[in-house]
Amino acid sequence: MKQNETSLNTLPKNWTVEDLGDNHMATSLETPLREDAFELDDDLKIELIEKHFKEIMHILGLDLTDDSLSGTPHRVAKMYIKEIFSGLNPANKPKVSLFENKYQYNQMLVEKDITFYSNCEHHFVPIVGKAHVAYISSGQVIGLSKLNRIVQYYAKRPQVQERLTMQIGKELQDILQTDNVAVVVDAKHLCVSSRGIQDVNSATITAFYEGKFKEEATKNEFLKYLSLGTEYGI
Ligand SMILES: [Zn+2]
Repeated sequence: MKQNETSLNTLPKNWTVEDLGDNHMATSLETPLREDAFELDDDLKIELIEKHFKEIMHILGLDLTDDSLSGTPHRVAKMYIKEIFSGLNPANKPKVSLFENKYQYNQMLVEKDITFYSNCEHHFVPIVGKAHVAYISSGQVIGLSKLNRIVQYYAKRPQVQERLTMQIGKELQDILQTDNVAVVVDAKHLCVSSRGIQDVNSATITAFYEGKFKEEATKNEFLKYLSLGTEYGI
């Protein structure tokens, strides 16, 4: 994905899928979900996706009586609902408890190199990358693993990288009750490397800087921490 081809809220009126093409625009910060998105339960969704995926494989000409293929529709359906798109369902949102910052730590906290797997919402192929998040406490702190869990929750949706970055940032601001949040996402999009332009070397970087992180010195301190090596051999 080329950065200059992307932006939020810039689709022309009466756009078509062909206008969108490979431009990877996102139409809103919120993942576009219908009101009735969770009226069907997970088991029924798996059953229906299995049926439709079987149909797709059949149309492709695949022999579904083959032992290697017969279980694929069910596997794919279960993987969609229980794993790679489980972050669509608010019921799967990580429960986060806040702790009082008793030790008065008032510097930035950085959690870096959070590996995530997501999927491009335009092609349904993987986005693989790392997220780096930071915040400066307003008096509350959260468990470190919760930062990872928040990244994973928003990654497990059909996504565009800009939205993923902003959703993580806004969620952290909400939970931590502070504006002082930074998120950098560095990812490879398989829709760019394995198809289309087939560029295997490019990566896409997106950032969210709010509050104190808009100040040059704070932003630079954060970026300096990201450039430190993390090869501890453990
Ligand atoms: Zn794509």
